[in-house]
Amino acid sequence: ADPTLRPEPLPEDDGPALRPQTLDAFTGQAEARANLRVFIESARMRGKAMDHALFHGPPGLGKTTLAQIMARELGVNFRMTSGPVLAKAGDLAAILTNLEARDVLFIDEIHRLNPVVEEVLYPALEDFELDLVIGEGPAARTVRIELQPFTLVGATTRLGLLTTPLRDRFGIPVRLQFYTVDELQDIVARGARLLGVEAEPEGTREIAARARGTPRIAGRLLRRVVDFALVEGDGRLTRDLADRALTRLGVDEIGLDGADRRYLGLIAEHYYGGPVGIETLAAALSESRDALEEVIEPFLLQQGLVQRTPRGRMLAPRAWSHLGLRPPKVSDG
Ligand code: ADP
Repeated sequence: ADPTLRPEPLPEDDGPALRPQTLDAFTGQAEARANLRVFIESARMRGKAMDHALFHGPPGLGKTTLAQIMARELGVNFRMTSGPVLAKAGDLAAILTNLEARDVLFIDEIHRLNPVVEEVLYPALEDFELDLVIGEGPAARTVRIELQPFTLVGATTRLGLLTTPLRDRFGIPVRLQFYTVDELQDIVARGARLLGVEAEPEGTREIAARARGTPRIAGRLLRRVVDFALVEGDGRLTRDLADRALTRLGVDEIGLDGADRRYLGLIAEHYYGGPVGIETLAAALSESRDALEEVIEPFLLQQGLVQRTPRGRMLAPRAWSHLGLRPPKVSDG
């Protein structure tokens, strides 16, 4: 997949300039934001660590950003790590014992925690205690370490892969949604202002409409369109310029990129619209099943282009018309 269109974090698009710093500056996710505001306020009034929160949803929707904002509004430190990085129990212990009272610890990709590390996390979450085994063999003994009360914010793109005991330890589950075009237009317009680019509303709207409901993609497309505006235009972000730039980047009028269209095209042309199993699709597309389920499918499902059935994935009528193809005739019997 084209790295400019896929929402893996890149240093360039996470410049502090574009990242909103307060709940008020954070566009969209109205329900999540309103609830978080209450929990943050309550924790502040009680002078206690806020309850643990679990953010889930597709990549690039603002999980990390929201966690940073939480820490800022709680007036505490923000520490960040990720599931795959914590290889040993000691790695987690080192982080936990360094937390100050009420700090926010953010663990990205928490569904990828090593089970041994996860075991250590349970008592830490519940009682702010660590049970560590020191030494080996007959000399081994367990020591209990008291921790400062802290708030864990876990983030995952795959809620279903979390173990039940881990899920149960989060008092505040938050599901992030795809953004509307209006919300993304606000984000793109703000980004353009911060980049010092003169932008017409029709230009920012064009980018917003083609950003797959995702702020990270909106930010990335904005930067690319600005490149085109500077080099091939007069520096202004117009609708026409955005349209030409995005088309050249392979982003179509509803925001699908090459990988999306390959996915839809495969089901249409090789499987008569499905149903076809996810493993078959992954093999045929040379993509991992995870990449299909985490990155490609959520938006296609949300857009009503694909349906998930017990027998596999099926194209929805809208996908056929988008591809400019006619669905096969359903035979009788
Ligand atoms: P996630 O952790 O869900 O993958 P991030 O929090 O890293 O997503 O956000 C990805 C990018 O999108 C960041 O550059 C961030 O600044 C931007 N972003 C996310 N949500 C918003 C928002 N509501 N308003 C403006 N920018 C946002």
